[in-house]
Formats: sequence, structure tokens, C-alpha cells
Amino acid sequence: MTSRFTSLFIPSVIALLSLYLSVYVDKIPAVWLALLEWLPYIFSSLVILLAWHFNKGLVLIVCLILMLPLLPIDNLGNKNNVSVYLLLTSLNLALVSQLQERGFFNRFAVNRIIFVAMQLLWCMALAEAWIKIPGISLYLINIESFSFALAFFTLTFVISLAFLASKWWLKSDTFSGAILVSLLLIALMHFLSLNSKQAALMHTGVFVIWCIYLLIDSHKMAYVDELTQLPGRRALNEKLLGLSKHYVIAMLDVDHFKKFNDTYGHDMGDLVLKSVANNMDKVTSGGKAFRYGGEEFAIVFAHKKKEDILSALEGVRESIASQMVDIYDSKKDVYKGVSVTISIGAALSNSERHAQDVIKHADQLLYKAKKKGRNCVIIE
Ligand code: GH3
Ligand code: MG
Ligand code: MG
Repeated sequence: MTSRFTSLFIPSVIALLSLYLSVYVDKIPAVWLALLEWLPYIFSSLVILLAWHFNKGLVLIVCLILMLPLLPIDNLGNKNNVSVYLLLTSLNLALVSQLQERGFFNRFAVNRIIFVAMQLLWCMALAEAWIKIPGISLYLINIESFSFALAFFTLTFVISLAFLASKWWLKSDTFSGAILVSLLLIALMHFLSLNSKQAALMHTGVFVIWCIYLLIDSHKMAYVDELTQLPGRRALNEKLLGLSKHYVIAMLDVDHFKKFNDTYGHDMGDLVLKSVANNMDKVTSGGKAFRYGGEEFAIVFAHKKKEDILSALEGVRESIASQMVDIYDSKKDVYKGVSVTISIGAALSNSERHAQDVIKHADQLLYKAKKKGRNCVIIE
């Protein structure tokens, strides 16, 4: 629930800020006003550069779609007309939300760009009357007079918006949140009667959302382990630097995991690791779980209440041992529930021990737990 709303928080703040600034656009000093109309171009270029740097082809295509209102033949400012570009934007954003990330520039990116460019050419051909189809003149739809085209446009927009909203609701990720808010902002740009400076400000807001999205996403790539979604080794090292004197580090290792992989395959092993990590993430007593590497994890407690920590670690061990994970046994061609166990060693900080020594000590205790028969906790 919280990740659902945090995924919307930053895009919404940027959107509201750009709305607020566009209301007070006249208060902006004249020197800055001259720059204003260039801002959407500057920020969209920045998004494309960042997307290239982080190899994000989906963001490239989203950015190109969001640039459609920059086309000179748009109708911003006339609130009685809805532009076909709004429909192109909404429909294509809904489609993009279904696609997989495949890198910045390759045959997938080229196909996607050609797909959007073809629709754009089609609309331009109708708008400029290069081609004429009886009964269809789609460029501008007057929203004051009902027509079949208006009904079709409204339906397409509403369905695209509802689709993106449900996608965000189900996935709760920052990408879906950013797409949803971007579309709402672009729609507002069309429906409010804005002058070109106000429109430029709001449009800049859309691209700022994507710049920030790319920065947050790259931070996540560096700090969060992709498989288990737990913070990784780099995050652990930074956490260790900021610890006070009293803390406990527990090292956790899945028992006989090599055998598990050999029996059921590496991909089933991955499923189990996800489930194990999910249970570790629920550790109580203020513990914070990290993926240390492979099938080893660490939990850091920023205090030394030994009884609390022992019961928290026992809780993790038991919850993992009792958790059945549904896997596919390819050798027997059956689906079944399996469980794994973990062993835990936990060491306490002291004035002579550097954090890395506490980890080493916890590792030695973990080794003892393995010797003792596994599926147990040894705390110093
Ligand atoms: P022990 O009870 O002594 O810990 O035995 P073990 O078999 O778990 O220990 P060992 O360290 O020999 O094996 C660890 C195995 O974990 C080897 C490797 O194939 C597996 N492993 C490490 N990382 C991953 C991963 O990301 N996914 C999967 N599926 N397996 C992994
Ligand atoms: Mg191991
Ligand atoms: Mg192991």
C-alpha cells in the first residue's frame, strides 16, 4: 500500500508545482520568461541523454510520445478543440506500459519509434488534407458539438487513462506512477486554456518527472538487489558506516541450497530465494535485511537487546522453515510445495571490533550453526 502511493508522490509534487508556477507565470522576471519556451526542449533532451546513459529504451519512447504536443501544428490554447495528439499520447502511453525494457537503441526501439511515427504521419496527413477519407476529419474535434469522432476520442482517452490507473494500482511501481501523472498533466495542458508560456511550464514539469524517475531508478539499480528486492551489499556497506556503538549483525545462509538447485534447477532456486528474502524483510525488533551475495543474507539490528534479537531471528528462521513455496519439478513433471531452512549466526559489536570484524565473527558463528546440524540460530 505504501509503495503504491510513494510511487505517485514525487511525480504528483512536480505536477502540482508546475501547475502552481503556471498560474503565477506573470510574476516570473522577464529575463527568465524568454528562456521559458525553451525549457521543454532542454528537459526533453536531458531525459533522452539520461535514458541513453542508463540504457532505458522505454523512457526514450515515452519521452518521444510526450514530445508530441511540441509539434507546431498543435491546438493548445483553444479549449473548445481537443487535439488528436492527446489521443495519440494517451493510447501510446497505455501501450508502452505493456512493453518490456529492451535497451536504448536496437531493433525493438526502432520498431516502436516507427509504430508511433506511422500514427503521427497518418494524423498529419488527415490534418493537412494530404489524404481525404469521407466522414473522417480527425485532427480537431469540437467538444461543444457531439459527433461520432468525439465519442470515439473520449472513449479512447478514458479507457487509456483507466488502463494506466489500474496498471499503477496493481504494479505500484515508479514507472507506472510517472506515466499516469504525465498523461494527466498533458491532458490538463489540453483542457485548460493556457497561454504558450503556461503550457511550456507544465510541459517542462512532465519532462522533469522523467529526469527524476531516471535518477531514482538508477539509484535503485545500484542499491536494491533485482531478484529479491532487498537492499544489496553496497547498501549494507553504507549502513555499516553510519552505525552507532551498539549493534548486532546476523549472517543468514540457506541450507543445502546447492543440492536444491541441482534437484529443481536454478530458476526454481531463484523463486525460493525471493520467498526467503520476503520472510527476512518482515524481521521484527528493528532489524534490517540485506542480500549479502548468492544465498547469503545479513540482518542489522541497531541495538543490542539480545533477547529481542534472538526471538526476532528465531521468528525469521521458523517462518522460512514453515513457508511452502510452489515450484515445478521438471524431472517428475509435477507442481509441488517445498520448503527450505536457513542457519543463522549473530555477533555483537564492541569497542575493538570494526563492523567488518563483526561480520566475520557472525560468519564464524554461522559456520558453527551449520556444524550443529543447520536450521538453527547461534547468537554470541
Ligand atoms: P550449506 O548448507 O553448507 O550452506 O550448503 P549450500 O549447498 O547451501 O552451500 P554452497 O555455498 O556450497 O552453495 C551455495 C549455492 O547457492 C551455490 C549456488 O548455486 C547457489 N546460488 C548462489 N546464488 C544464487 C542465486 O542467485 N540463485 C540461485 N538459484 N542459486 C544461487
Ligand atoms: Mg553459502
Ligand atoms: Mg548455503
